[in-house]
Amino acid sequence: MKLADFPEDLRPHLIPQPSGEMVYRCLNCQAEYDLRELLYTCPRCRGLFLLVDRQEACLRDKPGSFWQRLFDFRRMLNLPALKGIFLYYELIAPVIPLADLIYLGEGHTPQVKANDHLTAEVGVPFYFKNDGQNPSASFKDRGMAAALSYLNYLRRRPGAGRILAICASTGDTSAAAALYAAYLGKDIASAVLLPHGKVTPQQLAQPLGSGAQVLEIPGVFDDCMKVVEFLADHYQVALLNSKNSWRLRGQESYAFEIAQYFDYDLKNKAVVVPIGNAGNITAILQGFLRFYDLGIISTLPRIIGVQSRHANPVFRYYQEKNRRRRVFTPVAVQPSVAQAAMIGNPVSMPRLIRLVEEYTAQAGEGSVAVVEVTEQEIMDAMLLANRHGHIACTQGGESLAGLRIARQEKLIPPGEEAVLDATAHHLKFIGFQQMYFDDSFPPEFEVTPRPELQNRPQLLTTNQTEPQARLADLADQIAALLALTPK
Ligand SMILES: *Cc1c(COP(=O)(O)O)cnc(C)c1O
Ligand SMILES: [Zn+2]
Repeated sequence: MKLADFPEDLRPHLIPQPSGEMVYRCLNCQAEYDLRELLYTCPRCRGLFLLVDRQEACLRDKPGSFWQRLFDFRRMLNLPALKGIFLYYELIAPVIPLADLIYLGEGHTPQVKANDHLTAEVGVPFYFKNDGQNPSASFKDRGMAAALSYLNYLRRRPGAGRILAICASTGDTSAAAALYAAYLGKDIASAVLLPHGKVTPQQLAQPLGSGAQVLEIPGVFDDCMKVVEFLADHYQVALLNSKNSWRLRGQESYAFEIAQYFDYDLKNKAVVVPIGNAGNITAILQGFLRFYDLGIISTLPRIIGVQSRHANPVFRYYQEKNRRRRVFTPVAVQPSVAQAAMIGNPVSMPRLIRLVEEYTAQAGEGSVAVVEVTEQEIMDAMLLANRHGHIACTQGGESLAGLRIARQEKLIPPGEEAVLDATAHHLKFIGFQQMYFDDSFPPEFEVTPRPELQNRPQLLTTNQTEPQARLADLADQIAALLALTPK
């Protein structure tokens, strides 16, 4: 829609200008640092950062209804920079000029309602919000769009030089980082560290295809993370892990989109999200809290985090109901089909603890819960969902398995509706489906296929040699197999 056709009062605000004053604030000692430095943890106390806009209070000068209308109308504006996560520019990056924002098609992913049969089977009405339909096929694109837009802005400043962006990954972070870095061209090179043999062939192919330097190291994700942290402490590199608070800013858009989808009415809604490094759930909590604070929503939805029993440090932490007695203990992970969330020592744990407290203070006891599911439950749930028209990955299956547990444990009262995060595209993790169909899971996964969920191709052969006879023979076999009725 042309600018002239928008309501007059909104026109001056549709195309935003940098107006914020953003700084890194240490979660631990509250010290603040300038954005122009490549910082990831507090130089003073090594605490994690939150990105804060000192001018955020100014956004409150406008009522929530103004922001609702602005975001709704802005969707009709044909400006690439504002087509994705930066639709919510004022809440994500109000210091980056529009010319530096990158848009590769991320965000505004479909929210697909479960059909009646699946709803009856699960016992709670729900949607999958499918973040596998992002450009690199996972939600990580939301955060990378923000982090790389920021690097793009930095590199245009005098004397910036060439930037090396580096990350450790369970597969999807590196795919997203490499894609966005490739878009920015030669001034930004990317290197990714992957745990050897612990990412799927598709996830390995993605950064290779984007031209990143791919380094595989022995161990699991937590080992890769230690190496990149060491590198970020000792060398001039841009760290693209979720310690990078820009990524969390971008990932808040998932919460904003859910609010917008429901016309900003989140009464009786629950959001279910798998937890690995705890970046995504932290961003989602933060996003809802900020919308709430600005009066854009008047109810905070319930948040259910889900972990596999094979990588469950966050679940264990919240098992202790007395919050003063809670102690965080990292765990050694076991193999999990929710491989992208197979993390024993989540980097964002301090941020999560803090945000769960804030959220609970606003939304009440029980508004945030963490449940645990088995590998079997994850696989069965994923296949069940996909047999009903979804394209959920194993982590999406984890969300659905978590919803079922939450319902059994009465964490979700009747009358509530859930939005499940399917964090990646089904095809990235297709090997696990194959293992299920072939019954070839190594024993440590503890997955026994249910025959009604297995599926295999059937090979047809023919001894006929003449083309017409071959065709007739194959067609006859198929007609018999499918019990077709002759015309
Ligand atoms: C990264 C990732 C997760 C885990 O998210 P965290 O932010 O690390 O908690 C879950 N699913 C997929 C597909 C991922 O790529
Ligand atoms: Zn500090």
